[in-house]
Amino acid sequence: MAGKRDYYEILGVAKGASAEEIKKAYRKVALKYHPDRNQGDKAAEEKFKEAAEAYEVLSDDQKKARYDQYGHAAENMGQGGGFHGGGMNVEDIFRNFGDIFGNARGGGGGFDPFESFFGGGGGGQRQRGRKGSNLRIRVRMTLSEVANGAKKTIKVKKHVACHTCNGSGAKDASSVSKCTMCGGNGVVRRTTNTILGQMQTTTTCPQCNGSGEMITKKCPTCNGLGTEYGEETLTIDIPAGVQDGMQLSMSGKGNAGEQGGPAGDLIIAIEVEQHADLEIDGQNVIYNLHLNFADAALGCSVEVPTVDGKAKIKVPAGTQAGKVLRLNGKGVPSVNSYGKGDQLIIVNIYTPHKLSAEEEKLMEKLRQSPNFKPQPQKGEKGFFDRMKDVFRES
Ligand SMILES: [Zn+2]
Ligand SMILES: [Zn+2]
Repeated sequence: MAGKRDYYEILGVAKGASAEEIKKAYRKVALKYHPDRNQGDKAAEEKFKEAAEAYEVLSDDQKKARYDQYGHAAENMGQGGGFHGGGMNVEDIFRNFGDIFGNARGGGGGFDPFESFFGGGGGGQRQRGRKGSNLRIRVRMTLSEVANGAKKTIKVKKHVACHTCNGSGAKDASSVSKCTMCGGNGVVRRTTNTILGQMQTTTTCPQCNGSGEMITKKCPTCNGLGTEYGEETLTIDIPAGVQDGMQLSMSGKGNAGEQGGPAGDLIIAIEVEQHADLEIDGQNVIYNLHLNFADAALGCSVEVPTVDGKAKIKVPAGTQAGKVLRLNGKGVPSVNSYGKGDQLIIVNIYTPHKLSAEEEKLMEKLRQSPNFKPQPQKGEKGFFDRMKDVFRES
């Protein structure tokens, strides 16, 4: 690399120039030697590349520091110390520094290299291959998992990158060549005649889909597709409070893209398993407690199921049917907010379907007893009023 010009000299800035000055200077030089402005001019293309190389180094604090100390000798230091060494092509330059031209847009309606180079695409992102499709899986959650969140390890059968070619679709590195249609630019330019005169339009190259590359020898395993059928084991963190039918999306975990294209998304559809005893109502969990008549009259202590195992509750003496007992914070959280709902325990009084002769005798006695004559206390509401209250509170 003898006779290489000084990077500061290439950009026309002083050695102590600020990052902003360097950027400005590079933009000026790059616009001057831009390939669109100098079509077919080899010397200009060389200058364009030279400026990009200089900018690559001077815009990177570490590389700049090394260059300031060692000059071009720093390029041969290896171990991450080396620079690009002039190996950049025009495509790389746009890929790496495309944003530098962004400011030129809309400035006085003049020449806009960025726009013309990428066909008005704005972003200028090159995309290799075709994007993989989204994949949908169903994940079953128990109520306890809904309450606490869950880590699920799941094997997903899908298209994965081909193990032979690593997803490129090419037989080996030498079987990828520049696209013959666009010459590696990824876009094709067309000149059309309009009433306003000649107009140049640029479109994504149809042969390479904008990648600028062509596969000359296909990978034998995937026949050039870049994907094969396989599976991936994924650990999915499902947040607490998800609901039946909710969908979560993991970006890039769907089917692999063709020929190195980006992967699709994995859509996770939540299915909440029905619990044997508990029902979900919003963030509350509802449990129907069936007490026999004696327990309701005498009071008792019973065990009830909750989202986290069992809990003991006290039923006071004289509990009426329809009474709602509450376990604070034993409901489920919401994905969007803090706190949890409650568990509501609705008391039902169980009436025996059949009685033995002896039971019948006892009941007959109780029937005559004065306290067994229904005497609802003042203000004691009916079942439906009470339910309304409960749901208004929660
Ligand atoms: Zn392959
Ligand atoms: Zn092409």
